Formats: sequence, C-alpha cells, structure tokens
Amino acid sequence: MRLVILGGGQLARMLALSSHPLGIDVLVLTEEADCPAAQVAEVVVTDFKDFNKILSSLKSTDYVTFEFENIPLNLVKEIASYNKVYPSENSLYITQHRVREKKFAERLGIPVPKYIHVENASSLETALSELSFQAILKTCSSGYDGKGQWRISDKSDLLKYSSQIPDDIVAESFVRFDREVSIIIVKSFDGEIRSYDICQNVHESGTLRKTVNIPKNSSQEEDKILNLGVDYASRIANALDYVGVLAVEFFQIGSELFFNEYAPRVHNSGHWTIEGTVTSQFENHVRACMCLPLGDTTSYGFSAMRNLLGETNDKTEILKTPGAHYHWYGKSEVRDRRKVGHVTINSDSKIQTEKLYQNLFGDS
Ligand code: AMP
Repeated sequence: MRLVILGGGQLARMLALSSHPLGIDVLVLTEEADCPAAQVAEVVVTDFKDFNKILSSLKSTDYVTFEFENIPLNLVKEIASYNKVYPSENSLYITQHRVREKKFAERLGIPVPKYIHVENASSLETALSELSFQAILKTCSSGYDGKGQWRISDKSDLLKYSSQIPDDIVAESFVRFDREVSIIIVKSFDGEIRSYDICQNVHESGTLRKTVNIPKNSSQEEDKILNLGVDYASRIANALDYVGVLAVEFFQIGSELFFNEYAPRVHNSGHWTIEGTVTSQFENHVRACMCLPLGDTTSYGFSAMRNLLGETNDKTEILKTPGAHYHWYGKSEVRDRRKVGHVTINSDSKIQTEKLYQNLFGDS
C-alpha cells in the first residue's frame, strides 16, 4: 500500500511519520527538494504544473492526498481519473475561494458573519461603509497564516492600505468573539464520522500560536458547543462526499458558533492529538485515505500546543519538562514568524498543563 502526498511541508512530514508504523509506504511530491517531508519519506521534486511527470510517478494502486489547498485543481482532477484521491476534489474547489466557501456554509444553514464580496477595488469604500469600517479584508484565494489580510479599524486605514489591496477580496465584518475554536472530525470511506475534543485556539497576527483541548464531558456548555460544531462539520463533510480529516474554524459568541473557514486536511490546531489522543489526526487521516478502519479519537487529559514561530527555543529546557513533547520540522531556514516546530504539553490536570506551559513560554 502506498500513500502519495501532494506537498512536502510539516503536515506531510507528520503524515509520513504516522504511515510507517501502519506498514504504508509514502511518496511525497514537492516543489522544494529541501522540504520537511524529505527527511522522512521518499520524494519526487516536481513543478505542480508538470502533470506528465506527476502522473508518471504514480502507480495505479496508489492512494493520493494533499497537505495544502493551493494545488492546481486540474492536477487533482487529472489524478482522480486514475487513482483514489481523498478528500474529494470538490472539497478543494470550494475552499480555494473564500466567497464560494462562505456561500457553501450558508447553504448548509451554518451561520457566517456578515461579508461583502469586493470584486473590484473601486467598490471597496462603499463595502467598508456598510461594515462601519470595522472589518478584515482578505484575498479570496491563496492567503494563509494571516497573509493577504488587512485589518480596517477606521476610514484612514483604507488610504493607508489602498495601494496594496488587489481586486477580488472579501470584506468581513470584524467579529468580537469570545473565543476561537476549531472542530476536527474524521470521516471514513464508508461514512463513519468521529470527532476530537474542542480545540480552543489563540492567534497572533493571524497565525495560530496556541491550542488547548477541552476534554469531552468537561461541562454541559462545552458539550453543547462540541455537538453544535460537530453537527456543522458533519454537514460540510456529508455535502462534500468527504473522506479524511476535516478541520472547521469557528468564532464563538455566547453559545453560538460562526463559520470562519474549513481546511480539507490535517490542521495545525490538531497537532496536540499526536500525544494527546489514542489515535492522532495524522494517523486517522492516513487510515481514512487508505480505506482502513478509523482509530479512537479519545483524548488523554489536558494538552496545550505551542507553535514555534521563527523561534529556536532551548530544547533542553523543553525536554526536561514532564509531559512536554518537542517537534522540529527541519525547515531549510528559520525565518521570522515561520512555523518551524511545535511543543505539546500534556498532563492529567488543566492547572498543571497551564503551569508547565507558562513556565516554558512565559504567557498563558
Ligand atoms: P483566517 O486566515 O481567516 O483564519 O484568519 C486568521 C485569524 O485572523 C483568525 O483566526 C482570527 O484570529 C482573525 N480573524 C480573521 N477573520 C476575522 C474576523 N472577521 N473578525 C475577527 N477576527 C478575524
């Protein structure tokens, strides 16, 4: 059995590391020879526009998945005519454009914060005045980790950024949320859905900094939120004929969830599942994509995951901490704010996990 992963970043690396114990070979197709997955799996370096090279690297028995969304859709379509590709190409198509994605969520009855599609920058001011100049502007495609986003807090911001803002953007009302959560589910080829705990997320300048899990049965309120989130995520998965891990990001206000975006792949807010659950999101994605039975998603206690953003922390201090697990992605360069690794701390008490996190990183 062989799994082919399109993309060679840290997600592909962790997918490959989860495949090996299952006796599954991995081939990574990447545009960068020096990528994180290259240290742990066989790679073919190719331009994603070179369909012939890609198709000739595949065997008819290969299962194919992807670790990022900005892959040419035509490539995935072409591969899908010869091989099993999970998640479905439709799940990629919808998420490749923010407005298409929001309309899709609305059609499924999932609440979406107010937004306006600004196809031409000349209509930006009108759109922003409808949002009282309290908005976030986002490019409709190709943005990630807060890139291609502009926060508008008053009219003067429009002038400040106007030369940078392209056509085809979405103006979203600025949401004053109580917290951000993601719901991660996995769906098998025969339709079974399992969910992980609520992932409670903290972002810094649009990039995920920290995730903690809220164990199931913590309180009735939390269980209600989890059930609501799983209901919304399942509507998405069922509508997309989905197979694999699906992550859906929400803004929470009171007891309501508002859709932000979904990722048709394993997700950064699920990294804690490697040590924090019986079967990690990576292993479950591999199982689902290879049409194998799903694993148990039950968590062990309380986890807190910290992204290392362009930081080379003292590894010794981390490794001395009980319940702390260090992950380095082996990127070719440690650049400012780049995701270069993560640390997960796990214990059987929320207070203890928070204390260890604060001791290591100095913030909560
Ligand atoms: P995104 O790339 O859409 O996931 O945005 C990255 C992060 O920016 C989110 O996780 C939020 O922390 C923040 N953000 C994005 N959109 C909004 C919004 N409409 N209102 C408030 N914060 C937002």
